[in-house]
This record gives sequence, C-alpha cells and structure tokens, in this order.
Amino acid sequence: MRGERVISTQTELGSNPCPLAPPRRSPAAGKTGSRLPTWDLKGRVSDMKNEVQAYRNRLKTTAQENENLKDSLARAQEREQKLTLKLHILKSIFTVSEHVTSEKNSLTREFLTLLSLKQILESELKNVQTELSVQGSILSGYQASLNEAQDIVRNLEAKVSHQSEQLYKGEMTRRTLHNTIQELKGNIRVFCRVRPLLTPDQSTMAHIELPAHDEKSLKLAKTEESRTGQKGDTQKSYNFSFDKVFGPHATRKEVFEEISLLIQSALDGYNVCCFAYGQTGSGETYTMEGGELEETRGVIPRAVQQIFRTASVLKERGWQYTFVASFVEIYNEMLRDLLYMGKPNKRPEHEIKKISATEITVTNLTYQKVTTEDEVRTLIELANMKDYSSRSHSVFQLDIEGENADGGLKSKCELFKYAGSSTYKHKVYSDGSLLQTFLPPYRNSKLTYLLQHCLGGNGKTLLFINISPEEDGFGESLNSLRFASKVNECVIGTASANSK
Ligand code: ADP
Ligand code: MG
Repeated sequence: MRGERVISTQTELGSNPCPLAPPRRSPAAGKTGSRLPTWDLKGRVSDMKNEVQAYRNRLKTTAQENENLKDSLARAQEREQKLTLKLHILKSIFTVSEHVTSEKNSLTREFLTLLSLKQILESELKNVQTELSVQGSILSGYQASLNEAQDIVRNLEAKVSHQSEQLYKGEMTRRTLHNTIQELKGNIRVFCRVRPLLTPDQSTMAHIELPAHDEKSLKLAKTEESRTGQKGDTQKSYNFSFDKVFGPHATRKEVFEEISLLIQSALDGYNVCCFAYGQTGSGETYTMEGGELEETRGVIPRAVQQIFRTASVLKERGWQYTFVASFVEIYNEMLRDLLYMGKPNKRPEHEIKKISATEITVTNLTYQKVTTEDEVRTLIELANMKDYSSRSHSVFQLDIEGENADGGLKSKCELFKYAGSSTYKHKVYSDGSLLQTFLPPYRNSKLTYLLQHCLGGNGKTLLFINISPEEDGFGESLNSLRFASKVNECVIGTASANSK
C-alpha cells in the first residue's frame, strides 16, 4: 500500500458518488448556498474553509487512489507480460509436444516392426540352434569314424609299404615266370587271321572251315571236278593248326590280347618282332595299322600304347625307360627313312652296319628319342603318309632301354608290315637258321639283315598269316598257310634277355 495514509472521508463522501464534486448545500442555505444568514460572514467563511478543507482532503484521497490505481495498472501490466511470456512458453511446449507425439508414433511403429523382426530372428535362431546341435552330433559321429578311418589308414599304409616290397619281388618273379612260359611255348608264334568277306552276297567262304570249339585249327577244302566226269567229284581238304586262329568276327581287341604277352617281353629285355604276312588284300595293313579310332586301331598303335603304359607302371616299381624310334622302308632292296624331314633331293643313302655282336645300326637313319605314346603315334602317321608302295616292307622299330637299381636291360621291339607274296619261293630249313631264310627273296636280304637280332635265336617272333576268304584266293591262301605251318614247326632256340 506504499504507506499511504488513508483518510476517512466517509461522512462527506458517503452520499456523493463523485469524489471531486462540490459538497451539496442544504436547501436552507438559499441562493448563497449557506444555511447561515447572509450576514453571518464569519460563519460563512468558516463554512467555506471547511468546505475547501474537505475538497483538499478529497483531492488527496483521490490522488492517493489514483496512485493506487496506477500501481494496480503497473502490476496488471507486469502480470500481463508474465502471462504473455507464459503463453509463449506454453505454445512452444505445445509445439514440442506435438512433434514429440508424432515422433513417438513413428518410433512406436518402428518398435513394432523391430519387435516382429526380433520374433522372426528368434525363431530362426532357434532353428539354427537345433540344426547346430544336430550337426554337432553328426560331427562327433564323423569325428569318431575319422579316428577309426585314420587307424585304418595307418594300418593300410603299413600294409601298402609291405606290399610294395612284395610287389617288387613279385614283379621280378613274374618276369622270370612269364619268360619261362614264353620259352616253353617256343619263340615263334604263328597266328592266322581270316578276314570277313567284303561283299558277302557275291561270294561264299565255304572252302574255309573254322571248327567252333577249336581256336587253333583251320581246314581248307576244295571240290575238284573229275577230269573224265565219270568217277564224280573229289573233295580235297588241308588241315592246319597254329597257336591261334582268328575267324572273321574276331575283334582287334581279342587279337591284341594274344600278342600283349609278347610285347611285355620287350620291356623285360627281349628282342621281339611282330609282322603280318599274306596276299595283297588279305588284311595285313588292317591288322598291323588299323584305323584312327580307338577301337579300330591295329597291332602297332596298341603295342606302342601297351609299352608306354606298362613302362609308366614299372616306373613306380623302380624302372626307368628310354625309347628311341625309327621307321625304315625296304623296297627293291633299297632302304628309305620314313622319318626323314629334309629336302627330298638331299635324301641320304643308308647302309645296315653291324656295330657289335648283338647290335646293328642303319647309317643316316633318323633315330628319334620319344617319351610319350602320342609322339610315337605322330611319327607313325607321318611315316604312313610316305609309305609309297604296298610292295614294300616297312619296319617300325622301338629301341628300349630299361634301368633299375639292380642294373639295366636293352631290347628292340620291331613291328612291321611285310609285303609277302606267293610269288616268292620260301626255303624252309629245319635248323635254327630258318627265320633268317624264310624271308624272301634270299638269305641275305636287307630285311633279314636288319632284323637279325629279332629273327635269330635270341628273339621272340610273332607272325600273322592273313587269309582272304574269297574262293578265288584259294591257291594263295593254301600257299600262305603252308608257309606259315612250316614256320610254326621250326624252333629257333631259347631267347634270353639282354643285359646292358
Ligand atoms: P593288305 O594290307 O593285306 O593288302 P588290307 O589290310 O588293306 O589288306 O585289307 C583289305 C581290305 O579288307 C580293306 O578294305 C580292309 O578294311 C578289309 N579288311 C581286312 N581285314 C579285315 C577284318 N579282319 N575285318 C574287316 N575288314 C577287314
Ligand atoms: Mg596293305
């Protein structure tokens, strides 16, 4: 209240609503406004003084009230300001809260999404855990069998090393036995092969009989008309037996199985020689070379394959082999290098030379070192392109040298196509020199000279007699078969392996 004095003006103000209005005069005061008689000036002055005093008091009060009102106004303004400020704050709080609400909503949504994600993950986790425990038990099962397997492996390893030793010993025994059997069988083997008819409907092969259960014999029969026509026809038959007779349906695989033992000997240090003989068109080329397809391949490519495959197996048993290939053609007693790569007009002359008691060489001939079956095959293909006459002998020779910890072996494998012909007269001697002589035309032919170490007492020889089944080839077939059976009867002595 700012210490203002409150002066009570109740008496004077009580009946007057306006504080500054002049005090009401009693109606008795007349026109002068005083109850006192006009003459009572003193009284009147005193009245007036009172009246002024009252006015002054009232003024004071009014001023006081005015002050109070001013104070109230100031306070009200102050409050208004505060309220405005509060309003602002509330407004901003409201905005913030609105924002917060929308944020809250979106967070709630997010939360729900995360919650469902969590549930999914939890169930996935459960699955994984189940799987893990299944895997764990499987793993421990595996671990157990692994341990068992490791034990087995250790045992097997021990067995393997023991067996490798046995194998090496076995390999040595096998060689000895194999070659003993070969020696007992004799060192010349004669196989006869009758090719199928090439035009089955035009001719028959009634004159050739191949007994069903005997793979070693063949009968040639011919009905000869009686010259006089009186006594009837006479039947002439010729029986032959060989180490093996292959009929028209024999596959090359069957044929080769029979000669693979001979090829094996080549890796054991024996000189071996395999050749085909027969009239032109009887199947020599077919037998020796064959076609390009795996199943149509003939003796030469199969022999080469066997040699290289066996050599790689023997490598594991301590053998190291080196191979040198040559391919020579003999035509009219002239030698021709089928592996020659130089200019045609610079072809050198060749001569067969004896360089030691057991070795011969051909001068200027290509002796090509080979390490794989493919290399040899390429050489043979190259040579076949240059093989210019069916009347020539072409001799493919593979020189083999094998070494192991105990020493070495040296041998030759000769595979050739022999241009046989019934026009040659074959002399057959009953002694060991036969093979040096049966090759036409003479004892000292280039071919026999070249092949002396295979055809002599120290080699193993396989002769294929090829027979044409057509009836008009009867005479030639008979000649070939007679020649072959004479070869078959002959013994050329015992072959032995060549040590280096
Ligand atoms: P050669 O070399 O003796 O003159 P080939 O080997 O060229 O004879 O054979 C003559 C024909 O007979 C060729 O068409 C060949 O394919 C075929 N021939 C030879 N022997 C057989 C056989 N065992 N099976 C099927 N066809 C053969
Ligand atoms: Mg031929």
